[in-house]
Amino acid sequence: MTPAADPGARDVPAGGRAFAIGLRNRFRGITVREGLLVRGPAGWGEFSPFAEYGPRESSRWWAACHEAAHRGWPDPVRDRVAVNVTVPAVDPDRAHAIVTAGGCATAKVKVAEKGQDPARDLARVEAVRDAIGPAGKVRVDANGAWDPDTAVRMVRALDRYGLEYVEQPCATLEELAAVRRRVDVPVAADESIRRAEDPLKVRAADAADLVVLKVQPLGGVRAALRVAEACGLPVVVSSAVETSVGLAAGVALAAALPELPYACGLATMQMLTADVTADPLLPENGYLPVRPVRVDEERLRAVEADAAPWRARAAAAVAAGGGPAPGAAGDG
Ligand SMILES: [Mg+2]
Repeated sequence: MTPAADPGARDVPAGGRAFAIGLRNRFRGITVREGLLVRGPAGWGEFSPFAEYGPRESSRWWAACHEAAHRGWPDPVRDRVAVNVTVPAVDPDRAHAIVTAGGCATAKVKVAEKGQDPARDLARVEAVRDAIGPAGKVRVDANGAWDPDTAVRMVRALDRYGLEYVEQPCATLEELAAVRRRVDVPVAADESIRRAEDPLKVRAADAADLVVLKVQPLGGVRAALRVAEACGLPVVVSSAVETSVGLAAGVALAAALPELPYACGLATMQMLTADVTADPLLPENGYLPVRPVRVDEERLRAVEADAAPWRARAAAAVAAGGGPAPGAAGDG
């Protein structure tokens, strides 16, 4: 489960097209999403590690891009993937409207926003439950912001509206495990998982009932499938807020998992102001289709940026990637 699992991923890209696309709202402190698109015999791949990621970390993102372009993905076992609508830390009226417009049977609600009164979390989740109806699923995401006592108190209070699970209630594994022992609501680990070995630590610490996995940080669809299998916990596939090219890899992972009991966090295309395809991966009736994404030359040109710095980042990622993982050669 080391990074560049595919020996071919050590090829430095000669080509590649860079993009810079505005975000509708600030996300992780950024307002523009940037990356490199690479075309290979299997299709397009996206390499879009965040700016603060160095070559070592980025090597996994490169492996995911290379897999998409040069190998393609394992066969899907389903032809569509259920997705959730995401509700930011907004007022109840706005939350209600977002869920109604989203058309999904599952809503993920951001809670524990800095500087907000806990009563606002309760009011937001109440509005979301009202909008989605009794049969809908409501999950909350605290992004690690609560201490364990607050988490236990808030999860119990919010569960009055029926919670599917709580995502990353606290920051550390020890805290997650402590909360999990004290509440009936399942706990999901997201920020606790940033590299391939993390899901195994989550499991070993009894810190979560399920894990949130993203394709690029884990080094590709096959690498993520191996992580999911080794971890043995249910998986929610989430995006890294990519173009439809990157999202397609997330959909491929979700489509190839033997079991997919939860809706995935892949309905993120709407967060970007443009896409590189004429047929973006947007949800229809709460599902994303499992299908290839074709890059549209005109749309790509409209968001195109200087590729030179991105090729340099890719080359550095390749150089830092190390050898292929043991047992990885020849699979797929
Ligand atoms: Mg999360």
